[in-house]
Amino acid sequence: MGRCFRYYDGWETEILRCDSCGWEGTFHEAAVEVYDYLMDCECPKCPSMSHLAIVCFPTNEETEANWDKVSDADKKAHIDGKNHDARWLASRLSSESELPDIDNESILLTWDEREGSAIILYNEQELWREPVFFEGYPRYEEVVGILRGKYGDRLADVIPTDRSIFNLYGDKLRADSIVGGVRSAVQRNHLMSRPAVEPDDTEVPGFSFFDKDDTEDIDAEDTDTEEINQKEKERAMAFSTKIFSYPIDTTKPTVEIEPNWWNSRELKVDPRFVACGPNSSYNDYEAYLTVSEMMELHEKYRPQAVKDCELASTKDRILPKLELLDEILYVKSDLYSRFRVYVFEWESGY
Ligand SMILES: [Zn+2]
Repeated sequence: MGRCFRYYDGWETEILRCDSCGWEGTFHEAAVEVYDYLMDCECPKCPSMSHLAIVCFPTNEETEANWDKVSDADKKAHIDGKNHDARWLASRLSSESELPDIDNESILLTWDEREGSAIILYNEQELWREPVFFEGYPRYEEVVGILRGKYGDRLADVIPTDRSIFNLYGDKLRADSIVGGVRSAVQRNHLMSRPAVEPDDTEVPGFSFFDKDDTEDIDAEDTDTEEINQKEKERAMAFSTKIFSYPIDTTKPTVEIEPNWWNSRELKVDPRFVACGPNSSYNDYEAYLTVSEMMELHEKYRPQAVKDCELASTKDRILPKLELLDEILYVKSDLYSRFRVYVFEWESGY
């Protein structure tokens, strides 16, 4: 059993001893891991065999009770922290009644940061401002909850600005996917509450299996039959994309999604994609991507899917896939080790 120190217990000079191998040394000489509320250390000779000690970071009360042992830097941090908390308590958004009414069926807000304050903007109008927190994503989630209480399904998104990201995410690896999950829930609720709009014509803007250069009309002046045949053939080939997801600890993919809104032609020339496929007459490409690489592509193409969901003709086709991909990447991404993105050519039956 390891030792358990309070922060002001003098653990820095105490000699720790490993029961398994006999190693001796101070806390900082051992293998130290730092967490949010504590540090712990294991024997450097036989880690995972021998847990040596835990040091809990001090509460405000402990710091004040041990004020003579507190370093000048920690004293300053403690006083700054208390002042910050007091300012935040006095000015934080605590209820939807503090927010102004907005007369719009689709309310797009921005989460910005200026002069040490988190600011919620509706276009140029400042709705709220309160002291910002480092690693403030739990507060972002709380505030979005209050905003949803006020504006309901009319709330379309709360978009963090680039300059707000540093404090919003901090050093937390999963902060971006937590914020992404909150945003996608807001977006989904907003979309689901909107009546689907019928398109003006049968062609759906921004949605096509074919890229422009595939469907260009064949030059009428072109009389070379062979060339025409080649163009006919190219024209009849279309590209599509499939995503296979690999759960941790298995080599078999589980979920397969065909995200029609991903730009297959763009992916094909992405240097991470290599030619593959059993059928030599087709040009198939694939890439094995990490969760964060997938997230990046998902974020890139997501606005197109959201746009497609506004149309009745594509909503039913797109929304279930979008929801599934959102769930995998924003909610359950830690269950997956990698993804295979497969860009394949298929005969369109032209
Ligand atoms: Zn040991």
